[in-house]
Amino acid sequence: MTQVIQELAKGLNMDMDSQAFCKTMDERDSLRRFRDEFSIPLKKDVAGDNLQGDGEEPSVYMCGNSLGLMPLRTRDLVMQEFDSILYALTIDNSRGVEAHWDHPYNRPWATVDEVVKGMMAELVGMYNMHQSIFCIFYANISDDRLPIGALPIEVTTMNTLTGNVHALLSAFYRPTVERTKIIIEKKAFPSDFYAVAAQIKLHDLDPESCLITIAPREGEDALRTEDILDTISMHGSTTAVIMLSGVQYYTGQFFEIEKITAYGHEQGCVVGWDLAHAVGNVPLQLHDWNVDFAAWCSYKYLNSSPGGIAGLFVHEKHANDQRPRLQGWWGNRKEDRFEMKEEFNPTPGASGYQLSNPSVITTICLLGSLQVFHEAGFANLREKSVHLTAYLEALATHVLAPHAANYNIITPTNPDHRGCQLSFTFEHGKMMDVMHGLQSNGVICDERKPTCIRIAPTPLYNTYNDVYNAVHILKKVMDQVYGSQ
Ligand SMILES: *Cc1c(COP(=O)(O)O)cnc(C)c1O
Repeated sequence: MTQVIQELAKGLNMDMDSQAFCKTMDERDSLRRFRDEFSIPLKKDVAGDNLQGDGEEPSVYMCGNSLGLMPLRTRDLVMQEFDSILYALTIDNSRGVEAHWDHPYNRPWATVDEVVKGMMAELVGMYNMHQSIFCIFYANISDDRLPIGALPIEVTTMNTLTGNVHALLSAFYRPTVERTKIIIEKKAFPSDFYAVAAQIKLHDLDPESCLITIAPREGEDALRTEDILDTISMHGSTTAVIMLSGVQYYTGQFFEIEKITAYGHEQGCVVGWDLAHAVGNVPLQLHDWNVDFAAWCSYKYLNSSPGGIAGLFVHEKHANDQRPRLQGWWGNRKEDRFEMKEEFNPTPGASGYQLSNPSVITTICLLGSLQVFHEAGFANLREKSVHLTAYLEALATHVLAPHAANYNIITPTNPDHRGCQLSFTFEHGKMMDVMHGLQSNGVICDERKPTCIRIAPTPLYNTYNDVYNAVHILKKVMDQVYGSQ
């Protein structure tokens, strides 16, 4: 992919390592107006006490993998919501709860999750194809106030991510005499690890024997698909659930979800995915890939604000199965939810896993972000993302050549096997010095101890100029930390 960038620069008769090249690339970027949807923090606000250079300049915010910037419009939407709450509670006092049904901005609280569901589903890839089926399922509640007019049955928003992982495992991890195991990555995000171990213990089983982990080979960082498949072969007949991450949080590796899911199914396993670092970052086709279940958070690439409401996917083929699950009134069919019956009658599909009435404010925060994604178009974003990350890789390799011995990029080089994040590793003991240097110079990325710095140019608000600045500041900082080479 770095070659593509070099050829682009050659075609423009420009040096890839120049601000003129970045300027041209940014001018040609059809998505450039979306940067104005965000307020980029100024360097003086993020660099801390050791600020270097002009504090009034925008920072180089490359941290969408950890906490995406919130779109400005979200503030307006949330203010509308506060007004609606005031309206419901005071102005229209006698009919205080009416905003559940009759909302001044046409987002009734009782069905607020449906306002985001369609656009959420677009990002995990099954919306268009299934529009007609959704209409049939939801014909009785289709509503012209909804931005997309039809509701995807496979997706819902609820809780936060780890809660959703538990809700899904409670339903899909049903150990039998033959199948007790869960397969997960050895370096999975800790919360996922804790969750699967807890689920095993909740069934009075022992994680020591029931938790199977897959690690990269000695001396390698990414997991090879063949090694994942081998582990599935080895343990498949005794495994109940395989749960991996779509994009690995540490290395940025994008797993071959379709292939691994199909292989797991051949062995009779349920296959689920944690898409925290994948949603809004890489193209997903969860329905076509036959994924059984998935969960994700919305505050990373989805820019929905810290602790925002999370997402959940349950494949249509499970829409009407009556599997035991965590039950709550919000998972009950809408038709008789408010009749307060004793018997639980789940809504078909993902919504049947909801527990509580959703947080309206965090749902509206997600709405602001999804509108921006919808307007930009995910295919356009991905196209820009592939190029922007390739530029980061190409420029870093070129500019940091004198420091080649002092760092590595552990993210796969093939763009099909990564999203926008590149993970740079440094010697143990030096990484935090590099990290502090970046911060003082207004480059916002994040570290994962002991050796990794994750830099993620996101296509919605990052520019080629951002990448140029990040790399040249990294060079300056490495010169300070390692001595100029
Ligand atoms: C970010 C992340 C989490 C965080 O979980 P929360 O419940 O949202 O706090 C969990 N798992 C993975 C894989 C993540 O990347």
